[in-house]
Amino acid sequence: MERVRKREVQIGKVRIGGDNPIAVQTMLNVPVADIAGNVAQARRVAEAGCQILRASVPTLEDVRIVDAVKNAVDIPFVADIHFDYRIALACVDAGADKIRINPGNIGADDRVKAVANACNAKNIPIRIGVNAGSLEKEILARYGAPTPQALVESALYHVRLLEKHDFNNIVISIKSSNVPTMMEAYRLLSEACDYPLHVGVTEAGTYRMGLIKSGMGIGGLLLQGIGDTLRVSLTDEPEKEVQAGYDILRAAGYPVAGPEIISCPTCGRTNIPVAKIAQEVEERLRGYHKPVKVAVMGCVVNGPGEAREADIGIAGGKDEALLFIRGEKIRMLRGDIVGQLVDEVYKL
Ligand code: SF4
Repeated sequence: MERVRKREVQIGKVRIGGDNPIAVQTMLNVPVADIAGNVAQARRVAEAGCQILRASVPTLEDVRIVDAVKNAVDIPFVADIHFDYRIALACVDAGADKIRINPGNIGADDRVKAVANACNAKNIPIRIGVNAGSLEKEILARYGAPTPQALVESALYHVRLLEKHDFNNIVISIKSSNVPTMMEAYRLLSEACDYPLHVGVTEAGTYRMGLIKSGMGIGGLLLQGIGDTLRVSLTDEPEKEVQAGYDILRAAGYPVAGPEIISCPTCGRTNIPVAKIAQEVEERLRGYHKPVKVAVMGCVVNGPGEAREADIGIAGGKDEALLFIRGEKIRMLRGDIVGQLVDEVYKL
C-alpha cells in the first residue's frame, strides 16, 4: 500500500508527513488544575510509547501545565485551546510545540494574525480540528447535516484564515463519531490539500466500541495510505489509547516495534490453555522492543501451518508444546512453556 504523501511538519522533535512514520498521540484527561496528576499521567503515557501529547488549556492560569509536562517527559506538547487567542499566545511563549485551535473561532482577523505570527516566529504548527458536532452554523445550514463535504468545507475555511497570513505550518483533523462519514471526509480532504492529517474517530465510545470504531475508521484510512498522525479516542485511560494506536498501525501492516501475538481462536482440538498462555506471553514481552510475531496455537495438527507468518511460536500437544521458529519445528517444550518461549524470543 502506498502512502499519500503530505508536506512535512515538525512538532518539537517529531516530524510528520512526508515519509515519516505515523506518530501515535493521546490526550491527558486529568483535571487541568491537578498539575501533579497530569505529570504522573504524562509519565505513564510516555512509558506506553506516546509520541505526541496533548492537553487542554482552558484558562490563562492553566498555561502552567505546558512547562510542568514538558519538564516531566520528553514528548512534544500540544496545547488544546478553544476561543481565546491570548491563551494560544501564552502557550507559544511557554514552549508548546503545537497549538490546536480553530482560527474561525477566535474572533477578529487581527487575533488570527497575532497567533499565526507568533507560531511562525517559532516554527510551531497549528492543528485545525474540525468536529461534526461543532460545525459552523452557516455551513451546517447549507448542507443540512454534518456531511463529509460540510466537514471538508469547514476545514478549508479555517485553513484559508491562516493562509491569508502566510501561515502554512498546518495539520488538520476532521473527525466524526460516524465511521463512514469520517472516512469519506478524510478521503475528500486528503484530495483537496497537502497538509498532513491527524486521523481519528471522535467520541468513539467506551473501550470495546471505541476500539472497533477506531480500528475501522483509522485502520480503514491507513489502508488507503491516509494519515500522518493518529489518536484513538477512548472513554478510558490515555495509555490504552496509545496501545490501541500501535495495534491499529500494526494491523494495517505498518512497521511497529515490539511483539505481535498471533493466537488461534481454539476449537475442539485445543490441547493447551491458549488464552492464558497468549496473555502471559504478551505480558512478559512488554519490554521487548524489536518487531516480532509470536504465535500461540492450540494444536500441532494445524497450528504450525496456520501460524506460518509468525517468526516464532508454539503449538500445543499433550502436556507439552512444539516450538517452531520461522516455520521450522525445533523441539518439544515441557514444564514452564511460557518462560522457555520468551527466552527463545530474546535469542532470535
Ligand atoms: S490451531 Fe488447532 S486448536 Fe487452534 S483453532 Fe486451529 S485447529 Fe483448533
